[in-house]
Amino acid sequence: MAASLVRIFSKSCRQISRPWGASRAAWRSRSTNPAADVSSDQAAGGVSFPPLQTYSEEESMMREAVKKYAQERIAPFVSKMDENSTMDEEVIKSLFEQGLMGIEIDPEYNGTGSTFFASILVIEELAKVDPSVAVLCDIQNTLINTLFAELGTTAQKEQYLSRLTTDMVGSFCLSEAESGSDAFSLKTRADKHKDYYIINGSKLWISNAEHAGVFLVMANVDPSSGYKGITCFIVDRDTEGLEICKKENKLGLRASSTCPLNFDNVKMVHVLTLSLRVFQMVGLAQGCFDNTIPYTRQRVQFGKRLFDFQGMQHQIAHVATQIEAGRLLTYNAARLKEAGRPFIKEACMAKYFTAEVATLTTSKCIEWMGGVGFTKDYPIEKYYRDCKIGTIYEGTTNVQLSTMAKLIDKEYDS
Ligand SMILES: Cc1cc2nc3c(=O)[nH]c(=O)nc-3n(C[C@H](O)[C@H](O)[C@H](O)COP(=O)(O)OP(=O)(O)OC[C@H]3O[C@@H](n4cnc5c(N)ncnc54)[C@H](O)[C@@H]3O)c2cc1C
Repeated sequence: MAASLVRIFSKSCRQISRPWGASRAAWRSRSTNPAADVSSDQAAGGVSFPPLQTYSEEESMMREAVKKYAQERIAPFVSKMDENSTMDEEVIKSLFEQGLMGIEIDPEYNGTGSTFFASILVIEELAKVDPSVAVLCDIQNTLINTLFAELGTTAQKEQYLSRLTTDMVGSFCLSEAESGSDAFSLKTRADKHKDYYIINGSKLWISNAEHAGVFLVMANVDPSSGYKGITCFIVDRDTEGLEICKKENKLGLRASSTCPLNFDNVKMVHVLTLSLRVFQMVGLAQGCFDNTIPYTRQRVQFGKRLFDFQGMQHQIAHVATQIEAGRLLTYNAARLKEAGRPFIKEACMAKYFTAEVATLTTSKCIEWMGGVGFTKDYPIEKYYRDCKIGTIYEGTTNVQLSTMAKLIDKEYDS
């Protein structure tokens, strides 16, 4: 893995305002494997297995740069975007400018040429400030770009990846009115005609649809063979027969558009084949916690800071431990994936647990803030609304638990 990263960093990259780009030359002969990094060795105290939260130099720089970027370029828009249920075009533009929409993509396609783990860190930092922005960046990097990079033909990569890293948002279209958790039972059909397909059907809950230039659409080309007929089609926004309907009016993630789509005899020639993804709730929980603790350290009741009451301290320490555990589960699953080892059970555990942690954290934070936590004068109520989706999309909590149970059952087969 290290060798291929060195190769990626050695390629020329586009000079845009990416804070970590300037130092890339210094990494050219350096592995991004945390275990091989000098500072990591020090952090590990000479032990050959560094702590899970050991970052390579590149990862540390990205984390810091994104933290600063999110505070300067996203935070000022968050409240308005939530109120208006609209993602500001400036925010989307700045994500592209910062190289955050093509994190793992090769510089040959204008990408940043970094790692999956770096994507996880970026999504965590963005979610601390606005989970709606984080989900836009998450879908682009870990779903759309990954599918094109892993399954696209050279021509498809040239046509789409170069745009997805630069100025085009993508949407992933699987769910339908009748098929949510039971995704394989989807009804959208793609009928083959010589060298093209005709798609008919509809999709529901499609994130980023309002801004997307391209849609990856799952349709069945052969319902008689069940889920095996499910195929991924690349549909451009301006394709005749594609209708993007009115966005949902949601409890949380209000700045992230979620729309139904209709396909009425959509003619398609571009096809991919498919996979899945996770993680965002750690950043949300941490962001909410970070916005709450200073208040508990300032507010005085009965002559003491709220933070000084033992009843508060125990709750705060408990929630901090839960967030830490969620982060470690998440990082472990991401590191396993990067190492090419089995990670599905661990990813399900991370997805399930972090959604629970975000729910606990945001609820507790509102309580710790008292009445003001319930108002829009502070961002806490928004985190509380935004977190609920964590137990629903990308596989509900029940679905994660069922998948884990299946894998555990198998482990005890022999
Ligand atoms: C804001 C938002 C954004 C989304 N973005 C996208 C997107 O970009 N692309 C996309 O394709 N989809 C998207 N979705 C859809 C999302 O993935 C589905 O909502 C989710 O998979 C759940 O499906 P459902 O809503 O039909 O619920 P259902 O499947 O009807 O589930 C309802 C309840 O029943 C439980 N349940 C169902 N089956 C079982 C079972 N076998 N065992 C135990 N319990 C079960 C579930 O856990 C859940 O609690 C989004 C949804 C939302 C709300």
